[in-house]
Amino acid sequence: MKAAVMYEAGKDMVIENVTIDGPKHGEVMVRVTAAGVCHSDLSTWQGKGALKLPCILGHEAAGVVEKIGSGVDRVKKGDHVVLSWAPSCGRCFYCQARLPTQCEVYGRAASNGVMWDGTSRLRLADGRVVHHFTTQSSFAEYCIMPESGVVPISSSIPANVAALVGCAVTTGFGAAVNDCRVRPGDSVAIWGLGGVGLSALMGAKLSGAETLIVVDPNPRKGEVGTRFGATHYINPKEVPDVPDAVRQLTHGRGADAALECIGKSAAFEQAVLSIRGGGIVALVGQAPRGEAFTLPAARALMGQQKRIVGSHYGGAVPEQDFIRILGLYDSGRLPLDALVGKTVALEDINAAFRALERGFDTRQVIAFD
Ligand SMILES: [Zn+2]
Ligand SMILES: [Zn+2]
Repeated sequence: MKAAVMYEAGKDMVIENVTIDGPKHGEVMVRVTAAGVCHSDLSTWQGKGALKLPCILGHEAAGVVEKIGSGVDRVKKGDHVVLSWAPSCGRCFYCQARLPTQCEVYGRAASNGVMWDGTSRLRLADGRVVHHFTTQSSFAEYCIMPESGVVPISSSIPANVAALVGCAVTTGFGAAVNDCRVRPGDSVAIWGLGGVGLSALMGAKLSGAETLIVVDPNPRKGEVGTRFGATHYINPKEVPDVPDAVRQLTHGRGADAALECIGKSAAFEQAVLSIRGGGIVALVGQAPRGEAFTLPAARALMGQQKRIVGSHYGGAVPEQDFIRILGLYDSGRLPLDALVGKTVALEDINAAFRALERGFDTRQVIAFD
């Protein structure tokens, strides 16, 4: 199959012919139809995350089941599916504790760039092993997934939209709905308006938030935010005191909830200072390895009973939340089509990464035909 192989951090990926083995017991082979280019792919490619090389990136995809391994009964050949980047074993401590995205079996495999049995299904023409990324590696015509990472959906859902539900939408929407539990009338401030930030904005709006503030240094994002329902835009480069600007928009108290969707300490610190007493900050953005946050006014944090929560995959149970989100899309309440900014070919992947590095307005999606 054709796949984009990453050999070295920061160096162009190479489109190669890669051999993919068939699915083993409990695994599913999926023909990828659409794969979103996510900021986590970019930061991993930039060397900000741990990775075994060579490797195929891609963790936000939709496709059609091509082949199933023995023991698989959730899907059959021809089913349309959304792929989760955190398939779960269902048996470990975290799966039993209803935190499936912390699954220990998945975590071990993902950090070694292999499938659950400790081996890879991917090889270069010279026999060298290619590693999996989040066990998904969807910047390729086909991928192998554990059965729990493959969620069947209606074939009427456009592949581009389905792909984005696999990461950005669930991460952002879930951060607002599951982790921050935004309620009608709330004020919500969001830092960083990429695919995840826009999804958080849509989730907060759908939950009935009244004041929706977006903070992003890219001046184009003001207009983008308005299109997705933001009521106010703050450019941190132009405003001397962002928390003060947020307070002015929220009865002088601060926002009920803040979502940091960048993974930068400065933004996180602003978010903590921007919420009211008893408010909540969700740390959603993927910070680079080693990034340390200082808690501004830690005493005030205690005195004001502020809460900070790490938000991973939107606090979702992917198998349930994908279906819930696509139901809202189907009924017209979640305009996910607007998130797809551009479709590109697999061959254009390096250009797509560079565009994302410069700050792409919405989502770029690789379309396979
Ligand atoms: Zn992602
Ligand atoms: Zn598990």
